[in-house]
Amino acid sequence: MKTEVEKITNLLTEEDRKKIEEAGRILKDGGLVAFPTETVYGLGADALNPEASKKIYAAKGRPSDNPLIVHISNMGALEKITSDIPEKARKLAKHFWPGPLTMIFPKSEQVPLETTGGLNTVAVRMPNHPIALALIDAGGGYIAAPSANTSGKPSPTKAEHVALDMDGRIPMILDGGAVGIGIESTIVDFSTTIPMILRPGYITPEMIREIIGEVRMDPGLVLDDPTVHPKAPGMKYKHYAPKADLILVDGVQEKVVEKINDLVCEAEKSGKKTGVIGTDETCGLYQAGVVKSIGSREDEDAIARHLYGILREFDDLNVDMIYSESFSTPRIGQAIMNRMLKAAGHQVIEV
Ligand code: AMP
Ligand code: MG
Repeated sequence: MKTEVEKITNLLTEEDRKKIEEAGRILKDGGLVAFPTETVYGLGADALNPEASKKIYAAKGRPSDNPLIVHISNMGALEKITSDIPEKARKLAKHFWPGPLTMIFPKSEQVPLETTGGLNTVAVRMPNHPIALALIDAGGGYIAAPSANTSGKPSPTKAEHVALDMDGRIPMILDGGAVGIGIESTIVDFSTTIPMILRPGYITPEMIREIIGEVRMDPGLVLDDPTVHPKAPGMKYKHYAPKADLILVDGVQEKVVEKINDLVCEAEKSGKKTGVIGTDETCGLYQAGVVKSIGSREDEDAIARHLYGILREFDDLNVDMIYSESFSTPRIGQAIMNRMLKAAGHQVIEV
């Protein structure tokens, strides 16, 4: 299959709209289209068409028990695909939609089990991106879309990343440039008495608490206990992983830099090509290896935005080892570290 890459601007000119209409037709015919959202690029299919949803799993190599998020463009659409919308969920929608928040509801009959990985609940999000919203409307209103990467790899934050993973597997990629946030949405589940965060993201627990009061973190995410599984099926899989072996080094800055310098020196001596993920503040302090800055520690948004791109850059360089500083920054540090720990297979050296 030939993959067309169509450049679209956020201005949605007449020409842009024509291309989006064409992409919408592919979706309505049961095909796949990759598109930008404000979090990461998504791989879209008509969420109400079981055969279309199945194609997503095939293109990504995604395990079939890992449900998809359904993307909508208006609140009316939410009523059609859910059977109960708790008041607290309505409040969160009012504050954070369109935006990087996914909520889990009991599903209606309209949503096929192929889309929900066999569950009787459905995950829903209204993305805050003009191209995504226009495509949802053009494609029938209900677009199932996980991140547009091969399962297990870092999520795509540019159309070029999508093309590397999906070329020849899907008919169309809408290229809207680099995304703004760079990590996936926060997922909140309402099936427990107290709402629970199943995946940390750009919307923090504090922001949610301000609107609806108490919210908990899924114990499967925070406990260091292999017998307690996360509730979101996708969170149990290896994820976001670069080709190289990634090891995080955590501690005070001076010690971290010293340790990474030692580790790089050792690795290079044994013939391994090595990468380092530092920050604008520390990059000049590393003595060897391919050193890349993820951004300034003062700007956590930039750290989130650059994370997956940097992991993919090291894939291109074919490094064997990556040593990275850790980024438990104040606001979205929990979301950043959740991804980094998974990418590193939980290999952390404390100094
Ligand atoms: P992705 O779109 O690839 O970022 O992944 C979507 C995430 O949402 C995965 O971790 C899924 O397991 C999770 N998810 C989707 N639907 C549900 C659901 N109904 N219940 C719990 N988790 C879900
Ligand atoms: Mg994903």
